Amino acid sequence: MTSKYQLRYPAGVVESPVISRTVIETGVMLNILRANVDYGEAMLIVDILGDRKDQKRVVDYLKGEGVEVNKLEKNIRNNPERCVDCGACIALCPTDAISFSDDHSIKLNGDKCIRCGMCVDACPLRAMEIVRV
Ligand code: SF4
Ligand code: SF4
Repeated sequence: MTSKYQLRYPAGVVESPVISRTVIETGVMLNILRANVDYGEAMLIVDILGDRKDQKRVVDYLKGEGVEVNKLEKNIRNNPERCVDCGACIALCPTDAISFSDDHSIKLNGDKCIRCGMCVDACPLRAMEIVRV
């Protein structure tokens, strides 16, 4: 079982090896899907590999380290009133999270989405939106 989480590091936490420490201290593996590091701030999307108890252990540990943790229930949203099902976003998505349904409309698989934002930027009709957490 895995679940996706968004981690935000405040200034001061960025330089510490918090992910390595979390894995060592909890014994639970994390898979980093995406990382954005800026001056004094970092945002990571991770998969926590484990059951509910394992995930809670990791989340509690990270919070104790000063990391903001949000479970990603939803990643991306398509506005069918704007979308013309042109398919331009499908080829760009690095994780195959977007596809055509049988009726040729756009279908999203939120479990695969890593919130990279490429489809949002690429859509000429602004029909894609990353769900805020
Ligand atoms: S690029 Fe925009 S309009 Fe085209 S299929 Fe994707 S979301 Fe729809
Ligand atoms: S945000 Fe990135 S990973 Fe998610 S659907 Fe769009 S292109 Fe794919």
